[in-house]
Amino acid sequence: MILVTGATGGYGGSAIQHLLNKGVPAQEIIALVRSEEKAKDLKEKGIEIRVGDYTDYNSLVQAFKGVDKLLFVSGNDIPNRDDQHKNVVDAAKETGVKHVVYTSFYRRPEIENSAIAFLQDTHIKTENWLKESGIAYTLLQNALYMDMVTGFAGEKVLETGLISLPGGSGKFSAVIRDELAEAAAQILTTEGHEHKAYPLTNKEALSMPEMAEAISKASGTSVSYKPLSNDEYQKEMESQGVPALFIGIFQAFAKAQAQGELDIVGDTLESLIGRKPYSAQEFIEKVYG
Ligand code: NAP
Repeated sequence: MILVTGATGGYGGSAIQHLLNKGVPAQEIIALVRSEEKAKDLKEKGIEIRVGDYTDYNSLVQAFKGVDKLLFVSGNDIPNRDDQHKNVVDAAKETGVKHVVYTSFYRRPEIENSAIAFLQDTHIKTENWLKESGIAYTLLQNALYMDMVTGFAGEKVLETGLISLPGGSGKFSAVIRDELAEAAAQILTTEGHEHKAYPLTNKEALSMPEMAEAISKASGTSVSYKPLSNDEYQKEMESQGVPALFIGIFQAFAKAQAQGELDIVGDTLESLIGRKPYSAQEFIEKVYG
């Protein structure tokens, strides 16, 4: 039995669909959800629904009974994720799960003082807990979701003709979320992935000037990149009423980009999904074209 956590989320839902597409019978898939109501479509597909919450250890122990492989989708409650993720690893160990596939995040190990340490810390701790658990594990070091790239460009990019960010001239490698989920389904349905860490990045990285150029080309509207200082960016976002939490996240990612933390490319994802991943240029063409 394969259990997918975060099954009512974007990534978990895609992973389940890819498992079904690969011929895994619905009766061999379990979805861990917080709300049964939200899981109606999964139930209709014949998937067993188990209710559990990363904050409730006993609910996880009940939910993981009889599970061989666990696709552990990282949570999104950033301040409380450490305890939640420890619960998941401990419950998997207690119930005898044989293989945990975990959605971590990509990184350049040589970069110290990561601007996105507040996101990375839980991933690194969870990777270590898995390594210490004795359970076979696969670490999916997922690139930035390309689906978020429009957020970096800003909702009004075609009106203002400007991408204003403190990202310097750094590049980022991004992948559409559905392809990252497809790679997870491939790993869950094939052999030889135990005790491995896979950096799942695109084959090329993009800078902000290149992104502006691609948006201009796709939309027919001239867009340019205006690098801002952190303070300038903060003031501009505040004047647009963007909540402080989001300003902080965008600033952190822009700084990480400027420091080269997101400029990681490779072929691992391509070999797992068996084709070249969707490129940033293709994505931009689809969104702005
Ligand atoms: P999402 O749509 O927000 O889904 C997150 C899932 O986690 C939801 O199903 C949510 O349940 C579940 N969840 C959250 N807290 C939980 C808890 N305490 N107990 C049990 N389940 C819990 O996010 P996504 O787009 O699928 O992405 C999956 C994960 O990747 C995120 O949670 C985050 O860790 C990470 N992420 C990565 C990137 C990237 O660029 N690589 C970007 C964004 C997020 P409900 O459906 O009940 O809310």
